[in-house]
Amino acid sequence: MGAVSSYPARAVVDLAAIRSNVRSLSAHAPSAQVMAVVKADAYGHGLVPSATAAVAGGATWLGAAQVPEALALRAAGLAGPRILTWLYGPGAPLREAVEADVDLSVSAHWAFEEVVTAARAAGRAARVHLKVDTGLGRNGLTASDFAALLPAVLRAEADGAVRLVGVWSHLAFADEPEHPAVRAQEVAFAEAVRLAEDAGARLEVRHLANSAATLTNPSIHYDLVRPGIAVYGLSPVPQLGGPADFGLVPAMTLEAPLVNVKEWPAGAGMSYAHQYVTERDTVIGLVPLGYADGVPRHASGTADAPGGPLLVGGRVLGVAGRVCMDQVVVDLGPGATDRAGDRVELFGTGAGGGPTAEDWARVAGTISYEIVTRIGPRVPRVHV
Ligand code: PLP
Repeated sequence: MGAVSSYPARAVVDLAAIRSNVRSLSAHAPSAQVMAVVKADAYGHGLVPSATAAVAGGATWLGAAQVPEALALRAAGLAGPRILTWLYGPGAPLREAVEADVDLSVSAHWAFEEVVTAARAAGRAARVHLKVDTGLGRNGLTASDFAALLPAVLRAEADGAVRLVGVWSHLAFADEPEHPAVRAQEVAFAEAVRLAEDAGARLEVRHLANSAATLTNPSIHYDLVRPGIAVYGLSPVPQLGGPADFGLVPAMTLEAPLVNVKEWPAGAGMSYAHQYVTERDTVIGLVPLGYADGVPRHASGTADAPGGPLLVGGRVLGVAGRVCMDQVVVDLGPGATDRAGDRVELFGTGAGGGPTAEDWARVAGTISYEIVTRIGPRVPRVHV
């Protein structure tokens, strides 16, 4: 249990679920190692406790987008797993990363030069993964830049400045396994790997698969899979199946007590701009979570279109009216007997028909990734 907080709401993170999700992902990719992607504070779940749970569940790698995230993992005592970091700009603390035995992705010529400089300063070889943009159109070397940089990387390896550990890429349509772009990226990736190996690279890991590809596309698991969202028990492909269909358990439950309950007359508006007007005398409740805490304002509700779902006293109700900065209001219904202090669940495992992060994503017109990663910093994460 985490530190006791006087803040009324909390995000309870079930570390056993994270351990079990990593075990499930390993079972989906039995021939590959698992890199649990723990960027963005472990998708909002808390970096170090979540990473520790993922390692306990069998992850031998951790993926951190930014160098400080990777360094924080090492500083917290996570010495065993390999750590890869991939998103940094000129002047990033790469020497510290090399000294901390953090693997570095290289997506540009300038990055390679900085990695070599950092390795020489650290007095040890930097472990490098060359990232090739096989069609995502985001980070990574183009195929021609990859081919142009490769000889310099192998020369630097011969000099002892780097060790070329991996070749990797990221998919644009992993959540649509049948999309022709997946096959095109697969072919481009195989070509980059062949080029590197023909040039003499002794790769430890080739990696392409995120959660969706780990769960739906075994032909591209290669040596290492890089699931993120599935580690936290959310489905990367909700149109194909929910967490349970893939052996996953949502790890985060977002909950708060009702902090005010009162009678409210028929025909009266609720919350800013009275977007929701009561149809009958009713009882309304106040939940101390708002958009500053990551509750999407797009999940505001009207009488016709209920807002984000809330589980209150065994029933699923919708946010009534505008989501405010710190709070939302719920129409508890005529004669409701709920009281201040009663628990409200915004999302959790979905057991017994309770709302999920995916339900919130649907109402807010976004993806579950955004729902969990945007839970604000003042909401305590309580790890159980
Ligand atoms: N690999 C890279 C490079 C990523 O940026 C991400 C996250 O977006 C992942 C893997 C994990 O993706 P997902 O959460 O869809 O499994």
